Amino acid sequence: MAMRQFKAESKKLLDLMINSIYTNREIFLRELISNASDACDKRYFKSLTDTSIGITKDDLHIHIQPDKENRTLTISDNGVGMTKEELEKNLGTIARSGSLDFKTENQSDNIDIIGQFGVGFYSAFMVAGKVTVISRAQGEDTAWKWESKGVEGYTLTETERDEVGTDVILVLKEDTDNENYSEYLDEYTLAGLVKKYSDYIRFPITMYREKSRQKPKPEDAGDDYKPEYETYTELETLNSMVPIWKRNKSEVKEEDYNEFYKSKFMDYSDPLRVITSRTEGTATYTALLFIPGRTPYDYYTKEYEKGLALYASGVMIMEKCADLLPDYFSFVKGVVDSEDLSLNISRETLQKDSQLRLMRNSLEKKIKNELHAMLVNDREKYETFWKAFGRQIKFGIYGDYGMHKDLLADLLLFFSAKEQKYVTLDEYIEKMPEGQKCIYYAAGDDTDRLGKLPNAQLVLSKGYDLLLCTEDVDEFCLQMMRDYKEKEFKNINSGDLGLETEEEKKAAEETATENKDLFEEIKKALNGKIKDVKVNPTLQEHPVTLSSEGGISMEMEKILRKMPNGEDVESTKVLELNPAHPVFAALKAAHEAGDTEKVGRYAELLYDQALLIAGLPLEDPVAYAQLVCGLMS
Ligand code: ADP
Ligand code: MG
Repeated sequence: MAMRQFKAESKKLLDLMINSIYTNREIFLRELISNASDACDKRYFKSLTDTSIGITKDDLHIHIQPDKENRTLTISDNGVGMTKEELEKNLGTIARSGSLDFKTENQSDNIDIIGQFGVGFYSAFMVAGKVTVISRAQGEDTAWKWESKGVEGYTLTETERDEVGTDVILVLKEDTDNENYSEYLDEYTLAGLVKKYSDYIRFPITMYREKSRQKPKPEDAGDDYKPEYETYTELETLNSMVPIWKRNKSEVKEEDYNEFYKSKFMDYSDPLRVITSRTEGTATYTALLFIPGRTPYDYYTKEYEKGLALYASGVMIMEKCADLLPDYFSFVKGVVDSEDLSLNISRETLQKDSQLRLMRNSLEKKIKNELHAMLVNDREKYETFWKAFGRQIKFGIYGDYGMHKDLLADLLLFFSAKEQKYVTLDEYIEKMPEGQKCIYYAAGDDTDRLGKLPNAQLVLSKGYDLLLCTEDVDEFCLQMMRDYKEKEFKNINSGDLGLETEEEKKAAEETATENKDLFEEIKKALNGKIKDVKVNPTLQEHPVTLSSEGGISMEMEKILRKMPNGEDVESTKVLELNPAHPVFAALKAAHEAGDTEKVGRYAELLYDQALLIAGLPLEDPVAYAQLVCGLMS
């Protein structure tokens, strides 16, 4: 009998699989049971359209059979089975999923199939030295035997099997000093593993269990009769089959929820928060939701699909129902089960379903409240959440013309320059000293740099706090909100901060009038780059700064320019000069000496410096370098 090789890539993968993908080898059982469950689902699904199959949901089951003598563990099902070709295709190629094919071919959301990656089966080799699969496919008379000891390859031979279905027979590896494989022959261990990983599988998972009972007392037993015991075996169903979300919260351990989350939503870390919700009345449903602990790798891409699994009375009707979640909560995973939905509802009618809309609104409130509760009661966890998904909440405020800002505003966190930690807007407002009218913020890409901006230091020197906004969306979000609890948001580079004293203001006005000609000359030299030149008496040791007027800040200009069709976006810039700085005196001297060329060079230099300080790109770095060199030589 010829040995068939695994497909080339499969060999490497198989080796990797067995040795490293799964850190926890006991999950092999979960994988094999999930495959068996998928097979049962497929057979049931086929029977819906093909009455000759003559099977009902209650006929389908999965059976586990340990055999200590032969060191084998067999997982059997009377699911759809595999033909010779399917055995070859599905088990001869790693990372190929027959289940995914089945789903695509049948284009149905009515099948709740677990498999889709095509690697689970091979986890069997973590515990088995040899794996035999005997399978008879629906509609076939003969069965086929697939056998493999791992990387070398596999054999396929014809055989017999009474019923349609599949047996996966594992010959467990020998125990070593460090490794105990025999435990997978132990009924108690197996029952525990099924409970742990496969409790919500909707087909019964049965196993014969050895039990002990008292023998009946013989009629003629004397006074000195001592009870005798006998062992017997009994077929037991190991899984409760009741979906975890249908169970009482008090009966379910946190661990069970976590395990459910990880296996159902393909995450390797525990969720940050589990939300259970059961409502009656306008929207009757049971929901089990999870806030993931980390950002999915594709979360901020088009590939990410939001949605909750939707069940009607325990039967899945849609794997990812997008309509149940608003975009700003698209990170939420979970299951919603409602008795008010009909089984054969289509995607189109679902969108218009008023029941669904009620559920969506109710879920939105629930999620919001849970997030806020986390913010109040478990700040550390909330900050983890915020780092993973805060950006999405900000997009939510910015999106839909600010329609959701009232719902989301109190979930916001920003980094405080004064406290060097994240604060909510309420916390910011609570700590505002008397006289402070606005919520100040600085936008740019680096908190350290932002804190050193001339105007940042001015704001901080007044005892006011400053929000350091380092994400692209931040300023758009704040501008959309405009204010929070009647406190206006103010970019520290938006010109008139209103922080100078009356005297300073007056002196500045005088300086401006005195230097009207000089300012005109600077403006001319900068040739349209700035709208105006102003005197800023609060700059302290800085010679110059740039501010912007109108709705588009310099930071927004930078972000928008990177976007398609954003090349022309421009903020209206104002060059602000420090009248007390020696540089100002130098400018003045050049102007008085009638050296227009020098005034022009200085103006260019100062403008470029102001851009650098603001973290904005220089328009012409070469020209700037030449100007600086010109000063030195
Ligand atoms: P996945 O379950 O992610 O598709 P697996 O490696 O677990 O990947 O299984 C590969 C394929 O083998 C499955 O998609 C399915 O087509 C087939 N298969 C595995 N076990 C069985 C089984 N017990 N009955 C029928 N088909 C099975
Ligand atoms: Mg699988």
